[in-house]
Amino acid sequence: MAITPLMPVYPRSPVRPVRGEGAYLFGESGEKYLDFASGIAVNLLGHGHPHLTKAIQDQAATLIHVSNLYGSPQGEALAQRLVDLTFADTVFFTNSGAEAVECAIKTARRYHHAKGNAHKHELITFTNAFHGRTMATISATNQEKLRDGFAPLLPGFAVVEFDNLDAAKAAMNEHTAGFLVEPVQGEGGIRPASPEFMRGLRQLCDDNDLMLVLDEVQCGMARTGTLFAHEQYGIVPDILASAKGIGGGFPLGACLATEKAASGMVVGTHGSTYGGNPLAMAAGQAVLDVVANDEFLAQVRTTGERLRSALEQMIPNHDHLFEGVRGMGLMLGVKMKSDSRAFVNYLRTRGLLAVAAGDNVMRVLPPLNIEEAHIREFIELLSAAAAEYEVPAAAA
Ligand code: PLP
Repeated sequence: MAITPLMPVYPRSPVRPVRGEGAYLFGESGEKYLDFASGIAVNLLGHGHPHLTKAIQDQAATLIHVSNLYGSPQGEALAQRLVDLTFADTVFFTNSGAEAVECAIKTARRYHHAKGNAHKHELITFTNAFHGRTMATISATNQEKLRDGFAPLLPGFAVVEFDNLDAAKAAMNEHTAGFLVEPVQGEGGIRPASPEFMRGLRQLCDDNDLMLVLDEVQCGMARTGTLFAHEQYGIVPDILASAKGIGGGFPLGACLATEKAASGMVVGTHGSTYGGNPLAMAAGQAVLDVVANDEFLAQVRTTGERLRSALEQMIPNHDHLFEGVRGMGLMLGVKMKSDSRAFVNYLRTRGLLAVAAGDNVMRVLPPLNIEEAHIREFIELLSAAAAEYEVPAAAA
């Protein structure tokens, strides 16, 4: 049999982690990696964080799973905490980012349906977006590599140029339900939307009774230096999808909504067997215990500025490889002059983990609690690798 037992959908690298400690991962033979990828913006407290580990251990010994047919003290408590911390009035818990976006899409459609406007079912989405791998979430992007071979896709999405308010406005019609957008595109290459664009979308929604749906699966949960990225744009969404960092590595996602936006999500309209299980709720609480305070968030902003300026200082020494830095907080991207994937693969052989993204960007997504020494080590490893790296002929 040629096929591997693990369905071969990932181009898996030779890195094979078996243990983690803080900002480091260790491979099967003890190889050490500085992890500035964090499971793609997931392990925001690093690996083996004592508070998160204990919360999961204690809850695992108490109660792992019960059905959503029963009352959920654990779910109510975490939902209340998120409601208190954000724009939202209500929360649906999921197990992943794509599921959180699915719930967000359904909530937006159901809002209009509940108002007797079922024809308003189309979300305007944006080029190079990444919302996940389910049928709805691949239908919501124009990225051919995600969609290839999966037709027929779901109707109800219109894709226009990212960060182009005129294009978004021009795409509106009687079927428009709202906009689905990442305030900072992640997989698309760490591209923050402009404040004018985000505020413009909010205004269009206010003027036309549309839903502003934010996908903060990657950029949310303290990564940009505020609990959610939209806070830095001075706007609030109607609906927001969160995941990745929210569980600190434990599978957890959430769809947050205002009371108005969730008006169609009544009993029987949505569900999930595992969503909101007590173990995930314990992980979510432990993450918020650490990140949801001004001191931690200020530290993320300071560390982000420090890392960014260290990268900016290093870049001129390797300007054959690197073009510049972009991003917010500790969601940074280094734009490269050659294939970022090949370079990220090379970095792995040098004990450094980063992540490639679209537009030839190397994503730098460290745990949010890294210290000065980690930044120094990162820059040393990166500079040494850049000095010795030979751009493959095909990737130049
Ligand atoms: N939305 C964004 C912005 C993402 O970056 C991702 C994952 O990378 C997703 C949604 C999908 O999340 P998941 O892989 O947990 O389904």
